[in-house]
Amino acid sequence: MSDRPPHSASALKTTIHWSHDDSPKVGLILTSTHGLALIASQTILAGEKLMAFDGPLHEWGRTTLNLPNTPPYYLRDHCVQIDEGLSRDSTGLARYANHCCEPNCGITDLIWITAMRDIAPGTELTWDYAMTEDNDWFMHCSCGTPGCRGVIAGYRFLPPERRAAYEGFLSDWLTASHRPYIGPATATPLPAA
Ligand SMILES: [Zn+2]
Repeated sequence: MSDRPPHSASALKTTIHWSHDDSPKVGLILTSTHGLALIASQTILAGEKLMAFDGPLHEWGRTTLNLPNTPPYYLRDHCVQIDEGLSRDSTGLARYANHCCEPNCGITDLIWITAMRDIAPGTELTWDYAMTEDNDWFMHCSCGTPGCRGVIAGYRFLPPERRAAYEGFLSDWLTASHRPYIGPATATPLPAA
């Protein structure tokens, strides 16, 4: 489409799809440090909805922390959790948004990646995966922010001060349930893919 932002030739070597829900203010680049990344291609204002997990639903069953009933890897990597045992993929750019422990975007209405503050052109668009997930998933993080938690896991591992900072940008399915903070996530070996 003519209103799509420019993206790198290298990124085009992968199969990238665009959704009608993707804002024309979102650009896709291939970084030398952490693979594909989404950036603001022009000024984004706080509250703007940028992209959505608007794709197929995947039900992977109910799970309890530390039980082997975890979401499959393709769900961990590309989908957003919208209820207990239920994830949703995107048909566009949302699945490429990277995690950051001090992000500039959050989640609204379960599926929308939305700007939490004004964002300057060229800035990477990030969200905190603990804003939506609460299952056995975890990952190591090296986002480099002062608040980097090192190991990222579900909402129950998200500290109270972060929850407060994310007010209005946490997934409704998490805030509607009682999920107290249980302490920092611990680094344990990732299971085989
Ligand atoms: Zn981090």
